Amino acid sequence: MAARPLLFIHKARGLTLFSFMPTLPSGYMVYVFIIAAVAAILYKVYQKRQAADGDSAYVGTFEFENWQNGATHLISSRMSFFLLLDYEERSRFLDRTYQIMNALQFVSREEGFEVTDEMRMLVSASMCQLTFGWTELLPPNLKQIDLFSESFYSQAARAEVKGLTLPGRTMLSWRYFQEGYQIDNDKINLGLHELAHTIWDEMYNYDSVKEELDRWQRVATPEFIRMRRNADSGFFRDYAGTNMEELWACSIECFFEAPEEFYAQLPDFYKSLSEILNQDTLARALRKKQAATIPVA
Ligand SMILES: [Zn+2]
Repeated sequence: MAARPLLFIHKARGLTLFSFMPTLPSGYMVYVFIIAAVAAILYKVYQKRQAADGDSAYVGTFEFENWQNGATHLISSRMSFFLLLDYEERSRFLDRTYQIMNALQFVSREEGFEVTDEMRMLVSASMCQLTFGWTELLPPNLKQIDLFSESFYSQAARAEVKGLTLPGRTMLSWRYFQEGYQIDNDKINLGLHELAHTIWDEMYNYDSVKEELDRWQRVATPEFIRMRRNADSGFFRDYAGTNMEELWACSIECFFEAPEEFYAQLPDFYKSLSEILNQDTLARALRKKQAATIPVA
């Protein structure tokens, strides 16, 4: 018995709606479209003005072309590795950095310390430097970069540290990350060191570099034993003798910051890293030197 009134109301609502639609002014939808089109045009103009405004080209959300101008300026002024690349490689480097930046989450771990796009871009570029010879952009389990302004206390290490890598997450002091690139030939680079740890955590899962890793173990193990017996490594800093993983991370820093000295002192070690990373910093540095000596006609 109760169904009848409900059905009636339902039908009545349908009729009401049906009869209401034709009473709308005929030009109503046209105005909606005009307002939407004007809003879209204004937004595009706003985006272009943002991009044209110098450094702000890489601030906020932007289209890739605009981002590329800002990124080229920033990365080339801070990262000497980028200057070793040729035109095609630079374009690929920026493209990969952009993808890495969007794949990672960047988190400030200090109140009042804001993560900027400059930080996101340069840390992503550091990751890009390591994986530039690979198809993969970054280790699949790496999801988050935590940033601190200065050194920070680590519960896990029970010490004040400049950087730390845990499964899926890398923590970096922004001050020391920058220092690593400002002095680019002292074999110390916090970003490369910590991000090399993220690769170590996962690279034994990569079938593509299994043979190269075995070769690396064969050259790195005797060097590690030598370091353990003799505190003075000769080439690597003492900290590399802590364990094989630290030797890996420190040797990556040397691979990028002192390739000539590395190859001169430990050629097989250098070559094994070059095979794993599928890139050759020494060859790039020599190519750059040669290009600089060619006289201009
Ligand atoms: Zn380390």
